[in-house]
Amino acid sequence: MSTADQRSGPAELSRRANRLRGRVLRAIHLAGAGHTGGSLSCLDLLTILYHRVLRIDPAHPGDPARDRYIQSKGHSVEALYVVLASRGFFPDADLDTLCRYRSPLVGHPTRKTPGIEQNTGALGHGLSVAAGMALGARLGPHPFNVYCLLGDGELAEGSNWEAALCAAHHRLDNLTAIIDHNGLQITGAVREVMNVEPLADKWRAFGWEVREVDGHDFETLCGTFDALPFAPGKPSLILAHTIKGRGVSFMENQAGWHHRVPKEDELRAALAELESTAATPAPHGH
Ligand SMILES: [Mg+2]
Repeated sequence: MSTADQRSGPAELSRRANRLRGRVLRAIHLAGAGHTGGSLSCLDLLTILYHRVLRIDPAHPGDPARDRYIQSKGHSVEALYVVLASRGFFPDADLDTLCRYRSPLVGHPTRKTPGIEQNTGALGHGLSVAAGMALGARLGPHPFNVYCLLGDGELAEGSNWEAALCAAHHRLDNLTAIIDHNGLQITGAVREVMNVEPLADKWRAFGWEVREVDGHDFETLCGTFDALPFAPGKPSLILAHTIKGRGVSFMENQAGWHHRVPKEDELRAALAELESTAATPAPHGH
């Protein structure tokens, strides 16, 4: 299983994620559709998964020994497409066809796209599929790992909690769930729409081993992913505190940017801000 750049360190991953943010915004702008805020909040997590953690080979996307990634919050598919293209699953130019007639890239993940394991976007189903895959790995010859990204808003769906029970019951320590905990969903603050707190306590009570992290701190995230599985015989949960719209000041923490599309001037301002971030040396050499 190839992963030439699997050893990417925090500084390189951070630079790459910054570039990919711009790519997400340009693709959404061209498409005239997309989920801007949530794609930017999970992009750092996806960059680490695809450029450090997952054992995958873009030349053999169906390799039975590959790790599996399921993006349960399917609406943030633009982040996933951009990262898959950066990993070589399909040409970067495909991103400019997003949501157009006959484009291979539609508004939610489908298995027709190379590298995508499961159709998602009807929320609340990804973790059940991921748990089934993790259980399946026990029965087959390949001891692969399964990773599933959940939104915090989608945790209002009861099916997540059935899957959480099942994964702990079957002691699936080859399964990791990651919550993109940006505190917002389409209609406002998660706490106000359907309070899901206290999340860490809830998952621990369901039998998972939990780590709470800053979902944009590459150094911490690399160490956290490197420490998987957190406990033998238990599924792992990474509760990643993130910022919706991360990286573009006028998009950050704004529920309105859930699926708003940047206009020409907004795109220009956002790209300029990302460029200036890239030019600023981060503290501690990150
Ligand atoms: Mg959210």
